[in-house]
Amino acid sequence: MKVLKFGGTSVGSAENINKVISILQQESQHSRLVVVVSAVGGITDKLLEAARLACNGDPSYIDHFNAVSAIHISLISGLFKNTEDAVALLTENLVSEKLEDLKKLLNGIYLINEISPKTSDKLLCFGELLSSIIISNALKSRGLDAELKNSQELIITDNNFNNANVDFELTYLNTQLYFKSNKTKITVLPGFIAKSVHKEPTTLGRGGSDYTAAIIASALDAEQLEIWTDVSGMYTTNPKLVKQAKPIVKLSYQEAVELSHFGAKVLYPPTVLPVLEKKIPIVIKNTFNPEALGTTIMTQDNSTGKSPVKGISNIDGISLLTLQGNGMVGVPGFSKRLFETLAQQKINIILITQSSSEHSICFGISEGDAIKAKTAIDETFEYEIALHKIEPIHIESDLSIIALIGDKMKSHQGISGRMFSTLGKNNVNIRAIAQGASERNISAVINKNDVKKALNSLHETFFEVKTKQINLFITGVGNVGERLIEQIQQQKNYVKANLKISLRVVGLSNSKTMLINNEGVELKTWKEQLSQGSKASLDGFLEAVKSLNLRNSIFIDITANNDVAHMYPDYLKQSIAVIACNKIACSSELDYYKTLKQLSLKYNAPFLFETNVGAGLPVIDTLNHLVTSGDKIHEIQAVLSGSLNFVFNNFNSENTFYEIVKQAQKEGYTEPDPRIDLSGIDVARKILILARESGYDIELKDVQSDNFLTPSAMEADSVEDFFKTLTDDEQHYQKLYQSAKNNQCQLKFVAEFKNGKAKVGLKEIPKNHPFYNLEGKDNIVMFYTERYPEQPLIIKGAGAGADVTASGLFADIIRIANN
Ligand code: ADP
Ligand code: ASP
Ligand code: MG
Repeated sequence: MKVLKFGGTSVGSAENINKVISILQQESQHSRLVVVVSAVGGITDKLLEAARLACNGDPSYIDHFNAVSAIHISLISGLFKNTEDAVALLTENLVSEKLEDLKKLLNGIYLINEISPKTSDKLLCFGELLSSIIISNALKSRGLDAELKNSQELIITDNNFNNANVDFELTYLNTQLYFKSNKTKITVLPGFIAKSVHKEPTTLGRGGSDYTAAIIASALDAEQLEIWTDVSGMYTTNPKLVKQAKPIVKLSYQEAVELSHFGAKVLYPPTVLPVLEKKIPIVIKNTFNPEALGTTIMTQDNSTGKSPVKGISNIDGISLLTLQGNGMVGVPGFSKRLFETLAQQKINIILITQSSSEHSICFGISEGDAIKAKTAIDETFEYEIALHKIEPIHIESDLSIIALIGDKMKSHQGISGRMFSTLGKNNVNIRAIAQGASERNISAVINKNDVKKALNSLHETFFEVKTKQINLFITGVGNVGERLIEQIQQQKNYVKANLKISLRVVGLSNSKTMLINNEGVELKTWKEQLSQGSKASLDGFLEAVKSLNLRNSIFIDITANNDVAHMYPDYLKQSIAVIACNKIACSSELDYYKTLKQLSLKYNAPFLFETNVGAGLPVIDTLNHLVTSGDKIHEIQAVLSGSLNFVFNNFNSENTFYEIVKQAQKEGYTEPDPRIDLSGIDVARKILILARESGYDIELKDVQSDNFLTPSAMEADSVEDFFKTLTDDEQHYQKLYQSAKNNQCQLKFVAEFKNGKAKVGLKEIPKNHPFYNLEGKDNIVMFYTERYPEQPLIIKGAGAGADVTASGLFADIIRIANN
C-alpha cells in the first residue's frame, strides 16, 4: 500500500488533474493506493477571503463565491468530455449540492457578521470536499477502480479549530477498520479536513493535506508516502527566491523536520512525525515532471554530499520580542512565567535566545501574534514593570528567520563563521542568532528586505562554492564603458569556467537614460535597451541599486563627472564596492579621499581606482602590494601622460607644435580640451594619487607644477584661442626642442615624488635614462623603495586608450570578485 498526496497546483486545472490520473494509472499497476488531495489551488485562500468580506457585511463576498463555483464547474466540463455520462451527471449533482451548502453558509456569515474558528473550519472543508469528489469521479470515468472516502469519518481530532490535534488512537483504529473491509484499488481522500469527537468539522492547519497523508500512511503501515507537488523535491533553498537552488536527493527525517519547520513550505512540518515512528520513507515528487528523482526522506542519510549543510530555509513575517531588565538577573522563574504566558495564549515560539548575563530574553514569533503576546506578557509582569525591575516588552517587526540545516553540521567546524561572514560581507544585519544544542540548525533573524540577498549569498557559499555572482552597475558608457561591456561579453564564459566568477551587468546609465534589469542586461543589445531606458538620475540609479539589494554589487564610475564622484559614500555605506575610472574623488581634498578609504574599510566594500594612473597598467595595485607588505616608498619618477608623450615624441624642427597638438587631439590622445593635458594638471593629479597611496597626506595645491606653456597659452579663453597661441609662440616651443636636441636629450613631461614633495614639469632626459626611449603614448613609473633602493621597480606600457583602460577596470572587477 502506498499513500500519495497531490497538492493544490497538481489539481489546479483539468489538464493537471489529467496528469495526476496518468500517474495513478501507472502506480496502481504495482500497488494499492490511497490518494489524498488538496483543494484546487487557491481555493482555500478564496474561501477565507469570501468569509472575511461576508463577515464585514460586504456583499462582494458573492463574487468570490461565484469564482469558486465557476472554477469547479469548469473543471468538470474539462474533465468529463461526455456530459451525458452517468459519472459526469453524478459529479455535477454532488458538486452543485456542495456549492449550494457553501453559499448558504457564506450567506449566514454575511447576515450575522461573525465568523468563529469553528465556522471557519466548516467553511474551509468545502475546498477539499469539492476537489475529492471531482477527482475520484474523474478516476472512475477513466475506468479505474476508485472510490471516495471522506477522511472526516477517519481522522478524529480535538476541537482546537483551525489547527486541530489528532486523536491518533481513534484515527488509526477507524482507518485500519475501513481499509480492512474495503478492497478498492484507489481510495481518494480529501486532505486537511477532519472531525472532532463531537462530530464538528475541523482542519489540520494550513498546508495540512500533507499531514493527512502522513497520518493515513502511518495508520496503514504503508510502504511509502509520496508528496506530489509543483517542484522536483525539497530544494537546497526556496526555489522561488534562489534560481540556483537544486533538489536534495536524500534527507534524514530530522533534517526534513527542521527545514520544513523553518519555512520550506513544500512539506507541512507535522507531516514527518507520524511516518517517522514507523520509519516509512517520504518521497517528494513533481507532478509536472514525474521522471525527476525527487527527494527521499528516510531514517538516515548515508549520502556523501560535500556540504554538511543540507538546506537553507526562511520564514517571513517574524516579530522579535525582548523582555529585559536588571531585575531578571539571577532571579529564577522569569522564563517559566514568560513561556507559560505565551503557552496560555497559544502562541508558538519559533526561536529563543538568552544573553548569558540573564539580563534579557529575546524570542521570535509570528508577526500576527506580536500585540497579543505583548499585552499578555506586560500583564503577567505588571508588578515588576511598575517597580522598574523590568521593561515593558519591546517589539521589532518586519523581520525574517533564515536557517542553515544539516545533520552533519555538528561535526564540522567553522560553519557559523562562514554563515555570518557571508552575511556580513553582504551587509545583512543580524538581529538575533540561535543554534540548537543538536547543532543541526543555526538560525538568524534578519530584516525581511534582506532575505533574498541572504539566501542567495548563503546558497552561493554553501552550495555553489564554485561560482560567485558579481552584479555590476555601470555609470558612463562612452568609449571606455563601451569597451568594458565588450570585454565582459567576450570574457564572461572564460571567467566563469576558469575563475568561477559569473559576471552580470545589472545596471547601466549615461547622462540621458538609465536601465536596470534584475535578471542581468542582455549585452548584445544593451545600446538599444539603454536608449529606451528611463530618464537618468544619479539618485534614481542609487535607489534602484539599493532596492535591488543584490549581493556582490559593484558600482563603476566611468564618467569624469564631479557629482558622480560624490555619490561614492552612498554606495560604500550600503557595502557596495566602488570602482572609479573617474580621477576626481582620489585627487580632490585629502579629507574626501580619506573618508572614502575609511568607509570602504568600515563597510567592507572595496574602493578601487587602478585606472586613475597609467590606464590599464598595474601601478596602484603594485604600489599597494609594496606598502602593505611593509616596504617604504622613497621616490617615484614617472612619465604619466600618454598625450604629452605623444606630443614630445613627435614634435621636432620639421613640424610645428601646433600641428602635433592638433594631431594628438584628432587621434584622441588628448582630452577634447588639450589644455587639461598640456597644462600638466592631469599629471599633477596622478602623482598626487600615487603619493597618497604611498601613505603621504598631500593636497593638489602642494604639487609643484612647472609649466612649459607660454603665458598667453595659459590665459587663452577658449580651445580655439589656445591653438592660436601655439602658432604665435612656435619659437618658444622650438627653443625647448632645440635645447634638448643640443644636449642630446629627449623632452619628457616628468612627475616626481621625493622627500614628501611632488612636482611635475618638462625635463630634458639624457640618453642613458630609462625615460629616453619611451615611445608613443606609453607611460612609465619607477618606484625607489627601501627594498628597491638603487634599481627601481619599473612599470611600463601603454598608458592611454579605451581598450587598455577598460581592461584596467576589468582587472579591478576581478580583484573584487576574488576577494
Ligand atoms: P502544494 O500545493 O503541492 O502543497 P506548496 O505550495 O504547499 O505545494 O509547496 C510547494 C512550494 O514550496 C514550492 O512551489 C516552492 O515555492 C515552495 N518552497 C519553499 N521552500 C522550498 C524548498 N526548500 N524546496 C522546495 N520548495 C520550496
Ligand atoms: N487546502 C489547504 C491549504 O491551502 C491544505 C493544503 O493544501 O494542504 O492550506
Ligand atoms: Mg503544501
